[in-house]
Amino acid sequence: MGADVGLGEEGELADVLDAAHVLGTPERRARLRICASETCSARFYDRSPAGVRRWCSMRTCGNAAKARRHRRRQAVTTQNKNDRSTG
Ligand SMILES: [Zn+2]
Repeated sequence: MGADVGLGEEGELADVLDAAHVLGTPERRARLRICASETCSARFYDRSPAGVRRWCSMRTCGNAAKARRHRRRQAVTTQNKNDRSTG
């Protein structure tokens, strides 16, 4: 758990994943996710070291979701400035 895998080591990482595929470990199944996008239900394998990936593609679904969130966050940010009691 928590192996430090450098980004940019795609080749080696792929080898590890291949081994996991053959073994069919529970970990592998846990990393199988469904895209968090509201308009997409694609399944993908979370290959991020921290396991925090949420979208099948960062370029399509990820960007769309972030743009939506950003717009919403701008409205919330002004509120947070006044609320500094948390933390
Ligand atoms: Zn998607």
